Amino acid sequence: MFKKILIANRGEIALRIHRACREMGIRTVAVHSTADSDAMHVRLADESICVGGPTSRESYLNMPALLSAATLAGVDAIHPGVGFLSENSEFAQMVVDHDFVFIGPSAEHIRIMGDKILAKAAVEELGIPVVPGTPRPVSPQEEGIFDMAKEIGYPILVKAAGGGGGKGMQVVQAPEMLENALTIASAEAKANFGNESVFMERYLKQPRHIEIQVLADHHGNVVHLGERDCSIQRRHQKIWEEAPSPAISAAQRMELGNRVADATRRMGYQGVGTFEFLYENGEFFFIEMNTRIQVEHPISEMITGIDLIREQIRVATGEPLGFTQDDITFNGHAIECRINAEHPATFLPSPGKITAYHPPGGPNVRVDSALYTGYSIPPYYDSLISKLVVWGRDRDECLMRLRRALEEYVISGVETLIPLHQALAHNEDMQKGAYDIRWLEEFLAKQNAS
Ligand code: ADP
Repeated sequence: MFKKILIANRGEIALRIHRACREMGIRTVAVHSTADSDAMHVRLADESICVGGPTSRESYLNMPALLSAATLAGVDAIHPGVGFLSENSEFAQMVVDHDFVFIGPSAEHIRIMGDKILAKAAVEELGIPVVPGTPRPVSPQEEGIFDMAKEIGYPILVKAAGGGGGKGMQVVQAPEMLENALTIASAEAKANFGNESVFMERYLKQPRHIEIQVLADHHGNVVHLGERDCSIQRRHQKIWEEAPSPAISAAQRMELGNRVADATRRMGYQGVGTFEFLYENGEFFFIEMNTRIQVEHPISEMITGIDLIREQIRVATGEPLGFTQDDITFNGHAIECRINAEHPATFLPSPGKITAYHPPGGPNVRVDSALYTGYSIPPYYDSLISKLVVWGRDRDECLMRLRRALEEYVISGVETLIPLHQALAHNEDMQKGAYDIRWLEEFLAKQNAS
C-alpha cells in the first residue's frame, strides 16, 4: 500500500481524497496556490506545498511545480482529482516517467477517451451504441459536409473532439447554418482546448443524461455500479444528480451495465471510469467517457456502500478488487445537489467571505465541502463549494430528507444555489422524476418571465 499521496487538486474533492487516504492510513500532501494557503485541504493534510500563484495555470495546472512537489515530499503516488490535470494524458505520462504512480488509467486510455471521435469509435467497436455522427473530424471547407449532415439528419450538433465542461457545442437547425457553425466551433475549440478538430452528430431533442460507473483492477476484474441520472443541467453542466434514474428499470440497468463492464474489460482499462449516454425513446447512445472520478460519485457510493476513492487507490497499487458484480447490491435512492457560489437566478459567480456556516446533519445526510466560517472563496476557480448528498429508502423518502436538509443549510456571506435546489425539491415534475436535459433551462426561463 502507498505510504504517501500527493493530492493535485483543491476544494471539496481534495478534501474527499484526503479523507479516503486517512481512513486507509496513507499520509497526504496537499498542494496549493498562493490564494489557497488557508484552504481546508491544506489545513488537514499532513504536509502542504505552495506550487504557484493564484491562477490555475500558475499552480494547479503547473506540471513541473507539481512534480517537484511530489519529489520533494517523497510521495508514492499522485491523485489528480477532477478537472485540472485529471484528464491530461501528458501529465499522466510525466507522473509515471518520474516513477510515481498516477491514480487513474494509462496515459493512452486518457488520450483516446479524451478525443470524443476516437472514444466513440473505440466503444462502438466493442458493441456499445453511440450517437450517430461523423466518424472523423470535418472542416467547413470540405466537400460533402452537406451530404454527411443530411444523412445524420437535422438538427445537427457540431462538437469539439477535445471539448469538455459543456463548452464547444453548436446546434445547427438547417443546412444554410452549417458552414458557419463549423467555422465558429472550430475556432472556439482551438482557443479553448488547443485542438481545432470538430465533428457532427445527431442532436437529440429530449433525452435524459444517464451514465454508468465502472471500476476495474489490473487483473481484468471489472464491475459496474449502476447508473446516475444527470439530466438536470444548465448550459450542459450538471446541477442535480440522482441514482438510480427514475426513468430506467432494473433490467435495463443490468443490461447496459454489463455491456459497459464487458467493454471496459476488453479495452484493458484500469481504475474508475464513467460511460456517458443520452437516453431517448428507450434507446441509449454513448456520447463520451470520463477517465477519472466524477463530481457526482457520492450518489453511487450511497446506494452501493462502496467507497469509490478508496477502491480507486487500492486498484492503483495493483491489488485485485475485493468483490464481484454479484456482491454489489443497489439499495435505496440518493440525490446530490451541487451548491455553487452563484446567484440562484442569474448564476453570476459570488466569491467572498463566509460569515456563517452551518451544514445540515442527521441520518443519511452527507456534505462534501471544504467551507468553514471565516473562509474566503477566491474568485479564481470553479464555483462549486459544496455537494449536499442525501439517501432515502426510496425516492420519496430521499426527497423529503433533501427538503429538510436544504432547510437546515446555512451559508451566509455569499449567494448560493440553495434557493434553486429548494425550488427544485418542491417542484411537481421533479417529484415525479419527469424531466429531461432541457427541463431545467425551461424551468429557469419560466421563472425569469414571472
Ligand atoms: P462535455 O465533455 O463538454 O461535458 P458531453 O459530450 O459530455 O460534453 O455533453 C454534455 C451535455 O451536452 C450532455 O449531457 C447533453 O446535455 C448535451 N449533449 C451532448 N451531446 C448531445 C447530443 N448529441 N444531442 C443533444 N444533447 C447533447
